[in-house]
Amino acid sequence: MLNIVLFGPPGAGKGTQSKKIIEKYHLIHLSTGELLREHMSNGTELGKVAHTYIDQGNLVPDDLVIKMVDVEIDSHPETNGFIFDGFPRTVKQAEALDELLEKKGEKIALMIALDVDEEELKNRLKLRAQISGRTDDQDEERINNRIAVYKKETLPVAEYYEKQSKLKRIKGVGEIDEIFNDICKAIDQVK
Ligand code: AMP
Repeated sequence: MLNIVLFGPPGAGKGTQSKKIIEKYHLIHLSTGELLREHMSNGTELGKVAHTYIDQGNLVPDDLVIKMVDVEIDSHPETNGFIFDGFPRTVKQAEALDELLEKKGEKIALMIALDVDEEELKNRLKLRAQISGRTDDQDEERINNRIAVYKKETLPVAEYYEKQSKLKRIKGVGEIDEIFNDICKAIDQVK
């Protein structure tokens, strides 16, 4: 299996690039943000709990997210691999993911980190708010909180993979296809 973590702040282009990666490499896209939004719109227990955290731009507790990912991985036994998007977002989640995969005789091959500067991110998120209808994209305070949470809780996850020599940084600004090309080069090296 080929398992990749796609990493970057909110608005870095993870969703856009994921779509292209899964098409080319036939992987399952596992986005915890999308899964949580599905739970919310289906009104599940998890969705109800997650709602309050997501709406404020805070992280949903690790144990809930890890359990959700475990179930999702198990529901795709035949896949070539996964592209993890928006997960892991804390070092605890990264450790749990390693454990989950190890039990299945699998591992993370690569973390791709999309680098985008803060001004550009804020502009992209404002633009996205107009088309996505996502409540957590709607006002500046919540966007700023998500970026602050990202810096505090999520940035250390990049170090976690760097220590394992699995981190590849890619410039996330420019033409979508050029960024995708750089991503493909990184993937082809570990395939
Ligand atoms: P995203 O679609 O990845 O931007 O995620 C939207 C929101 O869902 C985040 O701001 C968090 O509140 C929540 N969320 C998504 N993924 C995770 C995760 N791995 N851990 C905790 N909360 C998450």
